[in-house]
Amino acid sequence: MRAMMKCSVEDEEQMRRAAELKSLAYGTVEREAASLLALSHRISDHPEIGLQEVHAAAWLLEAVRTVPGVRTEAGLAGMPTSFVAEIGTGELVVTLCAEYDALPGVGHGCGHNIIAAAAVGAFLALAPMAEALDATFRLLGTPAEENEGGKIRLLQAGAFEGTHLAMMVHPGPIDEASMNPYASAVVEARFTGREAHASLAPHEGVNALDALTIALTAIGLARQQLAPGQQIHGTVVDGGGAPNIIPGTTAGLWMIRATDLTSLHEVRERLENCLRGGALAAGCEVYISHDELAYHDLRIDRPLTELYLDNARSVGRNPSGVAARGGSTDMGNISQVFPSIHPMIGLGDAGLVLHTREFAKAARGPEGDRAALDGARLLSGVAIDACVDSVHRNRLISRAMPDPESTDE
Ligand SMILES: [Zn+2]
Repeated sequence: MRAMMKCSVEDEEQMRRAAELKSLAYGTVEREAASLLALSHRISDHPEIGLQEVHAAAWLLEAVRTVPGVRTEAGLAGMPTSFVAEIGTGELVVTLCAEYDALPGVGHGCGHNIIAAAAVGAFLALAPMAEALDATFRLLGTPAEENEGGKIRLLQAGAFEGTHLAMMVHPGPIDEASMNPYASAVVEARFTGREAHASLAPHEGVNALDALTIALTAIGLARQQLAPGQQIHGTVVDGGGAPNIIPGTTAGLWMIRATDLTSLHEVRERLENCLRGGALAAGCEVYISHDELAYHDLRIDRPLTELYLDNARSVGRNPSGVAARGGSTDMGNISQVFPSIHPMIGLGDAGLVLHTREFAKAARGPEGDRAALDGARLLSGVAIDACVDSVHRNRLISRAMPDPESTDE
């Protein structure tokens, strides 16, 4: 009885303290709002694709460089457009991930300008309370989420070392408790035959386009037997040069996706058999290569996701459950090692589609601005709760990972 009473007094004290600190943090977001939105708009207006985000990375660093006591370093893991800014030396290490890469053709159609502004805003809001919270706050500039798995390289290079909790918010059409991405990988195939004049000496040729065509047909047929959640999609990147030349070389690029890595390996095997089958039938050679950096599925941390939901409701957002399975993110790899959250912050229009010009426009509009500032509030709110609430704090300090669970309902 005594213990229970003591516990509830402690709880109340923790809640009061968290609320006080959140109002300070939200005050900082308020004061910094104009510059955070200017940052978001500037990034949106100057889209830079993965590993070329020279300006975006510099603007983010500039936004946090004047924080008293901040330690910064640029160019981690061999990526000039990555950076780290860290404040405090406290026990609990909270890593905020900022993405800022764009997509070819559709600019910031994935709204990474919002991710960047929200992460910077949360860092600025949390920085003054690092000591009081016995925490270390780390802002990681994580380039090339769309194309090169920047977070995976940073993970391998030790940039996440010591992390107890990794967080980011990603814009989406509506508010959702978490993204639910596929594991994914990229596979490239180059077919080699022999060029020949298509009219004078076609029999001298070995047609590399035949190999690719047969491979595409085999892949199309194989799709019917793929397990639920397995996907293959791709494109021809070299189909030969001229109609009067039997193509000597061709190439295609595919993405494979699945609900987890084991399933992903099965799809890869299937795809590679189709590619080899095409080469064999056409008498060609095939060279198959895949990226070393497969994206993992996301291990959803339920307790932290609950914290996010509580905070989201308190700022007037009402996220639905976990999103439908789709897309991929290098945050998946981080979530397999450190407790992580990757919620989707809504732009208030269920009809929006990620990776489109319309989404880029919305992410730079009033709803995008609201999402960026709320994102900063929510990330700082979750960090404060995780630091102050002894149950959450102890769990994170002990580095207990939640059980992996199926997220397909
Ligand atoms: Zn994205």
